[in-house]
Amino acid sequence: MRLRHPDGQVFSFDAGTLSLELACTTGGEGFRARFEILHTPPDLARWVAGSRLGVPAADVRATGPELRLVKLLREAVWAGAYALVTGTPVAARDADTVNEIAAGPPPVPRIAPDGTPTWRRPVTGAQIAAAIARDAVGTLTPPAATRIRMCGADDCYLVYLDTSRPGNRRWCSMERCGNRAKVRGHRQRKEHP
Ligand SMILES: [Zn+2]
Repeated sequence: MRLRHPDGQVFSFDAGTLSLELACTTGGEGFRARFEILHTPPDLARWVAGSRLGVPAADVRATGPELRLVKLLREAVWAGAYALVTGTPVAARDADTVNEIAAGPPPVPRIAPDGTPTWRRPVTGAQIAAAIARDAVGTLTPPAATRIRMCGADDCYLVYLDTSRPGNRRWCSMERCGNRAKVRGHRQRKEHP
């Protein structure tokens, strides 16, 4: 997924999993508010189309209350992931939110006439929330939970599931923080040989 930072840089970011993609690429509350992109239900449809869920925006039918549900889930996923990367368990309140939304029916997959996989239309905002919440259950629990990481840059709070085989992914994106660290290391070596 391509992200645009408020400083103007556009870079690719792979959150590794659907629920962290929602929590980290759409904004949120507090300091994440300046990254907010989900203002209206069509914004949600556009994000879904570009997400790893990949439901075409035209097939999504989301309402205002469903958008609020997705945002409620987003905060619970963010809080749960933040707790795990800082070494604390997921709070019961956040687990309750995820569990309740996960209990709803997810999008229904089907085989299209041309033999490719698709979804039964329309896909509702509530179904999207359920799919993301189900993913969150698998992400915020072992074994995946031990692979949730925060970007190694001091000023970056992007969280992702490290799906690399050795489990040593350090940066949100090589194009952004990985490259900044490389440049910094290079400069330091030059100044202090
Ligand atoms: Zn970063």
